[in-house]
Amino acid sequence: MTGAATAASRPAQLRFFNTLTRVVEEFQPVVPGQVTMYTCGPTVWNYAHIGNFRTFLFEDLLRRWLRARGLRVYQIMNLTDVDDRIIREAGAHGVSIRQLTDPFAAAFHEDRRWLRIEDAEAYPRATECIPSMVELVQGLLASGAAYRGEDGSVYFAIDRFPAYGQLSQLDRRELKTGASGRVSSDEYDKENARDFVLWKAVKPEDEAVGAAWDAPFGRGRPGWHLECSAMALSLLAAQGLGAVLDIHAGGVDLIFPHHEDEIAQSCAYTGEATFARYWLHGEFLNVRGTKMSKRFGNITTPRDLREDGVDPGALRLLMFQAHYRQQVDLTDEGLQAAREGSRRLGEFSLRMSQTAAGTADWDGWARQLQDRVHGALDGDLNAPQAIAAVFEAAREGNRRLDAGTAASGRALEAWRWTMGIFDLLPAAMDLQVVAERSPAPALSGTAAEPPTEPPAELAHAEEWARSWARVRLAAKGRRDFQEADRIRDLLARAGWEVRDNKDGSMEVRRA
Ligand SMILES: [Zn+2]
Repeated sequence: MTGAATAASRPAQLRFFNTLTRVVEEFQPVVPGQVTMYTCGPTVWNYAHIGNFRTFLFEDLLRRWLRARGLRVYQIMNLTDVDDRIIREAGAHGVSIRQLTDPFAAAFHEDRRWLRIEDAEAYPRATECIPSMVELVQGLLASGAAYRGEDGSVYFAIDRFPAYGQLSQLDRRELKTGASGRVSSDEYDKENARDFVLWKAVKPEDEAVGAAWDAPFGRGRPGWHLECSAMALSLLAAQGLGAVLDIHAGGVDLIFPHHEDEIAQSCAYTGEATFARYWLHGEFLNVRGTKMSKRFGNITTPRDLREDGVDPGALRLLMFQAHYRQQVDLTDEGLQAAREGSRRLGEFSLRMSQTAAGTADWDGWARQLQDRVHGALDGDLNAPQAIAAVFEAAREGNRRLDAGTAASGRALEAWRWTMGIFDLLPAAMDLQVVAERSPAPALSGTAAEPPTEPPAELAHAEEWARSWARVRLAAKGRRDFQEADRIRDLLARAGWEVRDNKDGSMEVRRA
């Protein structure tokens, strides 16, 4: 029985803190076995910073855990490629919004892959979904939930939607409606709930950068809040998945006004009582104790960290050592500790993968690891608790290996299952460690060769590359340089670079 099958066969007791109700609730998708999830994506006017990615990493863990639990996930993450800031930037640089945003959209995916964030099922770009937004605005105009202002823009009338403010628990008395309280900016402050813009009447600066589209209610462009509702609803409909999401996730800063406005537009349009049944929000990331902002000059991007030699496995570990509903600090000390932790787990992984058929007393070790990870993640995605169990298992496992007992296949399976959820291992491993730790058998070249094709999953691909590096190390030990070259080429074809160090050790890293 595989680890994943074990997990899926357990009774459903998955629980999440739902911002909508402010309590931890049992999670059940509308359609058994299938989860629909919408996660607000980046505004591609610049590089997404590590604070944005903290949210995306929390969503990656959420998605991986749902999948490990045997659920099919349909995740949509939008890319906002038209808004106030983008139009301003494009205008300032004399380029179209497409020209401005294309490189940042590509950079987002590059950074995402570096951080091992799994692909969502759909990455719609706002400018490619204008017809569904026009349709939504038309529907809201027809039902009277929206109106056209004297400025030619279309606004949502929040007093026509009694549930407005439910998610953010706004005091209804603060609401300002009608012409006096209207707001046409994409972002506005929490103190004032106001009629918000759905469609902005065209201005010359919009035309100049290619940010204007024809619509029956006047040429213009979508407001930021509108795009998420339109893209979520149209993609759900296209997939035959209904008009209500199981999960909507994002950063806490999106609760108001963005998510509040998404709910108002969507429900007023579909007539459904809710837009998403579970709302999950991730907390901020602070850089050295201060909330990241331009004002403090501490905006950090994944590419800054990559250039500083930070390992993605360590970064993931650092993030998952805090609960997603708690703030996390990004400090040099924290990164250093996470790097050491990731290295220790990598070392243990290597030792595990070298053991062949072990003893059954490892099965209890395997069961305990899986039970504890399962219990922790089922309880509102308590990653720090699960990570503590992972380190404890590695410590105990090392003790057993030191004592000379080989791990069982069941134990190796459980470890791989766990690493497949968190993906914490370092990208590059110094194989000197292998040479020191594994005596003659691993270097003799008699160990079974790994398959020539790399596995699809990232966590396993690293293990695969390291296995081949070990075989190559053994070949070099026998002075079989032809074989060593063959393995170098095989790894290169799969995108791995092998580096021979002067001291006889070897490193593998993604090319
Ligand atoms: Zn959104």
